[in-house]
Amino acid sequence: MSNLSFVSPTRNSPWGTYLSQIDAVEPYLGRLSRWVETLRRPKRALIVDIPIELDNGTVAHFEGYRVQHSLTRGPGKGGVRYHPDVTLEEVMALSGWMTIKNAAVNLPYGGAKGGIRVEPKMLSQKELEKLTRRYTSEIGLIIGPNQDIPAPDVNTNGKIMAWMMDTYSMNVGATSTGVVTGKPIELGGSLGRVAATGRGVFVVGREAMRRLGIEMEGARVAVQGFGNVGSIAAKMFASSGASIVAVQDHTGSIANTLGFDMAALLAHVAEHGGVKGFQGGDVIANEEFWDQPSDVLIPAALEGQIDEQRARRIQTRLVLEGANGPTTPDGEAVLADRGIVVVPDVIANAGGVTVSYFEWVQDFSSFFWTEDEINLRLDKILVGAFKHIWETGEQHRIPLRTAAFTVACSRVLQAREERGLYP
Ligand code: NAD
Repeated sequence: MSNLSFVSPTRNSPWGTYLSQIDAVEPYLGRLSRWVETLRRPKRALIVDIPIELDNGTVAHFEGYRVQHSLTRGPGKGGVRYHPDVTLEEVMALSGWMTIKNAAVNLPYGGAKGGIRVEPKMLSQKELEKLTRRYTSEIGLIIGPNQDIPAPDVNTNGKIMAWMMDTYSMNVGATSTGVVTGKPIELGGSLGRVAATGRGVFVVGREAMRRLGIEMEGARVAVQGFGNVGSIAAKMFASSGASIVAVQDHTGSIANTLGFDMAALLAHVAEHGGVKGFQGGDVIANEEFWDQPSDVLIPAALEGQIDEQRARRIQTRLVLEGANGPTTPDGEAVLADRGIVVVPDVIANAGGVTVSYFEWVQDFSSFFWTEDEINLRLDKILVGAFKHIWETGEQHRIPLRTAAFTVACSRVLQAREERGLYP
């Protein structure tokens, strides 16, 4: 499965999934397929040890990663994840998807991703800050505003970006706002960044629904993951007339065929940290979530959620991938057989990195845009990118994921060819 000695992916593991997506696109790359092997190998992978002194006086060690999958089209760009299941292989896959995503939307970036294998809920704020600062110093060898620009991902947020920006700035002896995106507004963050990924999921979903003839008014939407991406996407669908009929997060699963009262659900999750205990719907078993009838299903939690078995149970018309890599290759094959359209992550959740790009541009020029300007530019980029990918899919009669990869890989490999090989 892999030609690399340091990972052992399986067909449906994250890197295995990424590799099979590259295999699927190869026939559509024409003469550029000569360069395709570069996409199967990350340019650079850094593994770091992060020792910190805990509040109780003991020393704990954590493993951290930063993988720069490709720097061909520009600096690396991609989030940092704090999660107990983070592995080098997962970070590699996420970095590869960032290369594809940035190219699919035509942002001038390569692809990168980082992570720490940690359960952040077990750490105090002080410990979390130490962890973040030491990690930033360790990966400081390879990040920078012109080299590789981290951003938030699962369990990381603006506060963590502020610590990263401060640590990097202290180490280089100059305030460097452009080294991370997703920062607080006071530190050069962008208006609209927090909501950008969820907003993008909605915008791309709306375009896909229009193409498939699914009415927004009354459309039934099921969402797995009710964090930054899932909750904001759900809120935007609900305020456009759709009904959110099922939600699952790490605390449990709930359903309401009439649609949840979104204001009440959002308030409950803000107060209690999850959907568990919400009174405005029925509690369902976690596996039952996949049986709930919907028109649009949005996986917005973690990768590998829609496997072959769940793909057989799902009752929907459109899978809109808010999360990165939520559908395994086997799951995707079943969905395709059943005529369920999948809008792939690399376009569906590209709103976040697009506004990260706006943030980076604003930091360089020290000139900040209004939220309306940002949302307008975001909508325009995503609508244009989706149209191009949809039309590529129609032209070659291929699924949207292969179409998105065709557009993106062609851009990366064209740049590779024009740059030539060094030395
Ligand atoms: P988050 O930490 O804000 O939310 C994650 C959500 O997933 C939470 O509601 C959590 O309860 C839920 N969850 C975790 N484990 C679960 C499980 N086993 N079963 C069901 N639910 C579970 O993270 P986020 O920023 O919303 O990111 C979600 C996904 O979107 C990730 O795949 C991430 O890579 C992707 N993504 C995020 C951004 C961004 O800007 N935040 C951008 C692009 C892609």
